[in-house]
Amino acid sequence: MKYISTRGNVNEIGFIDAVLMGLATDGGLLVPEKIPQIPNEKMKTISKLSYQELAYEIISHYVDGEIPEKDLKELIEKSYGTFRDPEVTPLQKIKDDMYVLELFHGPTFAFKDVALQFLGNLYSYIAKKREVSINILGATSGDTGASAIEGVRGKEGIRICILHPHGKVSKVQELQMTTVHDESVLNLAIKGTFDDGQKIIKEIFADLEFKNNYHLRAINSINFARILAQTVYYFYAYFQVAKERDIESLNFSVPTGNFGDIFAGFLAKKMGLPVGKLIVATNENNILERFIKDGVYEPGEFRSTYSPSMDIQVASNFERYLYYLLAENPNAVTAVMENFKAKGKIVVDEEQLRQVQADFAAYGVEGKECLQTISKYYTETNYLLDPHTSCGVAAYEACNEASEVCVTLATAHPAKFNESIELCDIEQTFPGEIRQLFDQPQYLEVVEADNDEIIQKLKGHFQDEK
Ligand SMILES: *Cc1c(COP(=O)(O)O)cnc(C)c1O
Repeated sequence: MKYISTRGNVNEIGFIDAVLMGLATDGGLLVPEKIPQIPNEKMKTISKLSYQELAYEIISHYVDGEIPEKDLKELIEKSYGTFRDPEVTPLQKIKDDMYVLELFHGPTFAFKDVALQFLGNLYSYIAKKREVSINILGATSGDTGASAIEGVRGKEGIRICILHPHGKVSKVQELQMTTVHDESVLNLAIKGTFDDGQKIIKEIFADLEFKNNYHLRAINSINFARILAQTVYYFYAYFQVAKERDIESLNFSVPTGNFGDIFAGFLAKKMGLPVGKLIVATNENNILERFIKDGVYEPGEFRSTYSPSMDIQVASNFERYLYYLLAENPNAVTAVMENFKAKGKIVVDEEQLRQVQADFAAYGVEGKECLQTISKYYTETNYLLDPHTSCGVAAYEACNEASEVCVTLATAHPAKFNESIELCDIEQTFPGEIRQLFDQPQYLEVVEADNDEIIQKLKGHFQDEK
């Protein structure tokens, strides 16, 4: 399996080099040259596997022998051994035609752990095998930061710096990131939004000399390994539902920010999984909803919402989808992205819009509806949704047809977002792991959203030339 850039100017590389490269050196995103197909007979045999066994089946297609079977199995076991549920991502039936896939049983109580526990172990493995230093730089809207820190802390040869928007993440998210006292961890709280952080990171990664000298590695969902790990649970959910009932296809409703999670579903569908609608659920930061409805991709004004992990205007994984929409033509992607940089928007033609609408449905959830949905499900089903999952459930209600069955991805545990739960007049009990955070000292530095200031901090934190 070889990996290529959506913009066509990276020589084919293997899986490990693709993980190390993160953002493609030509400014594009890495994608597999060819998406592996899982034939029907094979689907039957893998449908009975445990989560870890299934993860091996899916991931090994993409690793393609670069990591020996025994090592890859160990990596997967280690990554999901930290989850509190033996099923890793258990499925809950909420209504006759709707299930919730709980992705929040990892160390930081959000779905990011599914990918970042794996990526952390993978980096540690690569660091040892290749004798390279790994300095991780990432921007977070809240959950990625904690999850990435948890994925790599204490692992030899790895340092990490995470940028988060100061005061724009939930209290628990902030505590999870900043109470880790470890010299390998640096938390920078920037005076700005997540989009500012993401832009700074993209620019720092685009400085190839700095990136190479400081061995910078990415953990954001621009890293293909994250998408890959997330593809697994679409298969897992499908097989669990298919055990219970006859289904021809299954819809998924996905709380969406950077388009990483939903892209993993798109990939699963392209591999042959009978996925029906992929429903993009957004909050008021609804660039993706507008794109799917009108064919115009144009950032709007940033809004702070009850679902802060989805407060994103420029979805960094969108380019991966664009690549497939434009018939895998890197020149066309380059032209569209250059035009986007110059004019600030992307407009697709009618035929392309039909394709977009065949691939996705979309629904934007306003704050009031988000809270109402939490209250309604708590009253009617006694199930407490976090505000992100609530957007997913509201989108399921809007987009799922009567005869269809839908799985909503539950991307976080409600305890992470108690600010919103309290607004619904619901009192929840915190898990012990979260309760104890409130007694810990915090370690962070507040900085301007300024490349130079941040680069100085990075130079102090990361080891040069090793
Ligand atoms: C990151 C995150 C999302 C958005 O996922 P993307 O892959 O960025 O689309 C949704 N919900 C929660 C809780 C998250 O942490």
